[in-house]
Amino acid sequence: MRDCYQRKITYLRVSVTERCNFRCFYCRPREGGAASGRDIPLEHLVRVVDAGTMVGIRKVRLTGGEPLVRKDIVELTARIAGMEEIDDVALTTNGSLLRRYTPALQEAGLKRVNISLDTLKPDRFQRITCSGRLQDAWDGIEAALEYGLYPVKLNTVVMRDVNDDELLDFVALTEKLPLHVRFIEVMPIGESSERAKGQLVTAEEIKQGIESRYGNLEPIKSAAGDGPARYWKVPGAPGTVGFIAPLSGYFCDSCNRLRLTASGTLRPCLCQGDELDMNDLLTRGASRTELAALIAEAVTRKPQGHAEDTIEPVVDRLMSQIGG
Ligand code: SAM
Ligand code: SF4
Repeated sequence: MRDCYQRKITYLRVSVTERCNFRCFYCRPREGGAASGRDIPLEHLVRVVDAGTMVGIRKVRLTGGEPLVRKDIVELTARIAGMEEIDDVALTTNGSLLRRYTPALQEAGLKRVNISLDTLKPDRFQRITCSGRLQDAWDGIEAALEYGLYPVKLNTVVMRDVNDDELLDFVALTEKLPLHVRFIEVMPIGESSERAKGQLVTAEEIKQGIESRYGNLEPIKSAAGDGPARYWKVPGAPGTVGFIAPLSGYFCDSCNRLRLTASGTLRPCLCQGDELDMNDLLTRGASRTELAALIAEAVTRKPQGHAEDTIEPVVDRLMSQIGG
């Protein structure tokens, strides 16, 4: 279905839990936080996606929090992948539990995966994530490659004076392995609502830094499923380098997505607090047509976008609740 600005909405991002085994400092608070401890029941998630297909949802991404801390993640993946109208099920994960789950997830119908990785230095990884081990995430990346998930994308949030000294090391990875590294501008959301502006390194600045070492990168024609990222590669490299620039590279005009938060609300836009609560309908056993009507309303409530050069800080939710 199309929204009020003629954008075709086909993509649902589902934050399946706000729980996470990491506390990346830009995403979740070091202590406490909003985790209620209760995840949306699997049946509710399946019903939302099923109803979404009635209004044109064809692609689903499972995110969080950390989706792999849900014990039923494999069954959830299989149920969604098994829906006739769904063409694509994807996962965004911190990778730490991915090696354990890759075979079962692949069997369940998962084709592609995005793994978040902000540093290649073990001590820095631990500082950023609070409790994570780089080796676990790396094992997950290798498992994804070994099992032939394709494409394997790495999400790297770039922050000034945190990890901006490692960008060439990430590019070097794409010369060795078929990995698609995406450098993401840090957004002023949740834990980063105040800090992001001072830490922002724009996509253009990152690209210039890379080209001063490698010369001009080769542009790659964008493919279906690329979303807001734009891709280049080092000539001859098996992997690619992408940029996601929500601040400097305004892409609201091509937005094709809705989000279901970990609290069971539909969020028409990542950057605005408007949400529609699905919980009442779900708990009282509403029909798929009723659920679809609420999803359609969320589509019509999608705003045109944020200002071209700035995003107002988002303080109503953490990124782990919205799912990124
Ligand atoms: N736990 C999973 C992971 O880390 O991949 C999935 C959830 S996480 C919220 C989804 C994505 O949002 C990750 O790639 C993460 O780096 C990104 N993210 C979190 N906070 C962000 C921020 N303030 N700005 C930009 N990206 C952010
Ligand atoms: Fe957890 Fe992902 Fe947020 Fe890090 S970015 S705290 S791994 S949800």
